[in-house]
Amino acid sequence: MGRCTNHPDRETTTMCMKHEIYLCEDCLTCRDPEIYCKHRTSCPIWFVHKERRRAERKEREREGKE
Ligand SMILES: [Zn+2]
Repeated sequence: MGRCTNHPDRETTTMCMKHEIYLCEDCLTCRDPEIYCKHRTSCPIWFVHKERRRAERKEREREGKE
């Protein structure tokens, strides 16, 4: 358990394994998405980041069709 690096008043269990910083749900974004991270496959932050990117892409595709 730690505190979000951006929100010191929020407690969170999600830690970036690469930077060893805690991030709350609002801040779950991989800081270096272009750089290979050896922890990436087990990193919850990377997982959420990836899911959000996919959702954004889907959103754009839908807008493009209409
Ligand atoms: Zn935060």
